[in-house]
Amino acid sequence: MSAGEEPARRVLRSVFGFHEFRGLQADVINHVIAGGDALVLMPTGGGKSLCYQIPALVRPGVAVVVSPLIALMRDQVESLRQLGVRAAYLNSTVDWREAMEIERAVEAGTLDLLYVAPERLVTPRCLELFDRSRLALFALDEAHCVSQWGHDFRPEYLQLSLLHERYPAVPRLALTATADQRTRVDIASQLGLEEARVFLTSFDRPNITYRVTVKENPRQQLLSFLKENHPRDAGIIYCMSRNKVDETAAWLAAQGREALPYHAGLPAATRDAHQDRFIRSDSLVMVATIAFGMGIDKPDVRFVAHLDLPKSLEAYYQETGRAGRDGLPANAWMAYGMSDVVLVRQLLDASMASDAHKHAERVKLSALLGYCETPGCRRQALLGYFGEALAEPCGNCDTCLDEVAMWDASVAVQKALSAIYRTGQRFGSGHLIDVLRGEANERALRLGHDRLKTFGVGAEHSKREWQGIYRQLIALGLISVDVETHGFQLTDAAMPVLKGQEKLYLRRDPLAETKRGLKEARRGRGKGAAAPSLAGDDTSLFEALRRTRAELAKEQGVPAYVIFHDSTLEEMARCRPVDLTGFATLTGVGARKLERYADAFLEAIRDFR
Ligand code: ADP
Ligand code: ZN
Repeated sequence: MSAGEEPARRVLRSVFGFHEFRGLQADVINHVIAGGDALVLMPTGGGKSLCYQIPALVRPGVAVVVSPLIALMRDQVESLRQLGVRAAYLNSTVDWREAMEIERAVEAGTLDLLYVAPERLVTPRCLELFDRSRLALFALDEAHCVSQWGHDFRPEYLQLSLLHERYPAVPRLALTATADQRTRVDIASQLGLEEARVFLTSFDRPNITYRVTVKENPRQQLLSFLKENHPRDAGIIYCMSRNKVDETAAWLAAQGREALPYHAGLPAATRDAHQDRFIRSDSLVMVATIAFGMGIDKPDVRFVAHLDLPKSLEAYYQETGRAGRDGLPANAWMAYGMSDVVLVRQLLDASMASDAHKHAERVKLSALLGYCETPGCRRQALLGYFGEALAEPCGNCDTCLDEVAMWDASVAVQKALSAIYRTGQRFGSGHLIDVLRGEANERALRLGHDRLKTFGVGAEHSKREWQGIYRQLIALGLISVDVETHGFQLTDAAMPVLKGQEKLYLRRDPLAETKRGLKEARRGRGKGAAAPSLAGDDTSLFEALRRTRAELAKEQGVPAYVIFHDSTLEEMARCRPVDLTGFATLTGVGARKLERYADAFLEAIRDFR
């Protein structure tokens, strides 16, 4: 055991109520306590906050945490105060009187952590305050904001390199969940952290069950997904357009779900109010464009659903990563179909030109389609894309849970391709399938397509099966889609199959929404699931504890999870402590929360018997 470990562990137990460090936490914490700089790369939910919060409490002086998001600062500070930690924030929402008081506390050394917005930090007033004060460390959260490569570049972050020159003796940590190499290198150079020790953990999120389902009736599919798996949980549904967001939210509300829209077309005040309600609620569904989610630190988002394809796998990983930060099982669900593939294929073909940017776009779009259509483990595909190899299939994604059947589709594909060729490469799947299945409808007759050799040669497959075949052929690049007419055309890659020189295996689309896998994953059967879920009357007790928590949260006007996380309530329902000693052993119960909340929850447990 190294010298720094004892006090760090003590703080972990007594303040946070946690029993063990996770992953690289102990290494980072010891390194920083000893005065070292660090670059910390961990996935969302990996436990980055403790990496600076514990050194902040162990090292003398105040720790300065730079965070770009005001909503996030407020919640973090509230969570820390609940633990009895002396924390405050300085940003544009704080009035001058309050700011003066905070500044006095910093100078007097009576504050453990101070959160500041980057533009505030670099003001002379703030820097002069720091000159007069004792500083424990600087933590630069969401450090990818310094990189021009990232999606949320913030120019103010560039000035943070001055901290290094002004306070060379104060250790600095930069933390981010951004996985790509280019951004990492950029962070180190922009912040002068080239010498810092790098702590890089796996980016896997084992508690998230990934599932991609073939779109047929997306609203109904979404509804059954929600009813089956998340009848009461908080979650996010992403749609591409503002219209679709509004319509979907209204529709869900009409179905009896508490749902709100969020997109850039709404007034700022409405957006803030909706975001606030989402953060505080444990059952609200937010229907949103990608404008929503940056800096949402809500730990109990139980699902993220995509009704449209995300922009890229990077975006998908970031968006789905907002689910299950607390480590409990969560779902990433996506419905994807013909129209999505057609759209991506058109984008891909439009970017045929060879300059480097377009090439990068093509690689990204192909990877996205590859992920959707893969018969293999989704998690292996995802992590592989980010350069991390997962040795075994994960056991916690749809393709692992429900085996994907492959079939020799060579003959069917020949028919499908020849239907395109013989109708003049002008039609989309609707008409092509009519021709294959021999539907002698008005259009077929008018065009004389009932006299083609391919007419009626495909009656052995249903309409749905042909849709699946065409969708996969587009994804595989055997078919391109005309940008204007949307007509399907054969590519060079189609020729060997069309001529019967090559065999082609396709995946058989699973019949209906397979509910089995999701339920099992939720019960914690999936290898990666973090905690076994509850059974029998533990569930009713859990609900009772949730009500107690809701009352306490309401009294104080704070989000429910700052009182206790769901994981603590679950443990409570399972272990049913009868006294303070028992209560103190629960994960997430530190000294302060024991003192403040044990009685209320012990009473709820007693009443339940
Ligand atoms: P990140 O900032 O990396 O997304 P957080 O710091 O918010 O992640 O941590 C994610 C969740 O894990 C939080 O709910 C936190 O309380 C919990 N957590 C972190 N470290 C531990 C630990 N050592 N033991 C138990 N829970 C932990
Ligand atoms: Zn898998």
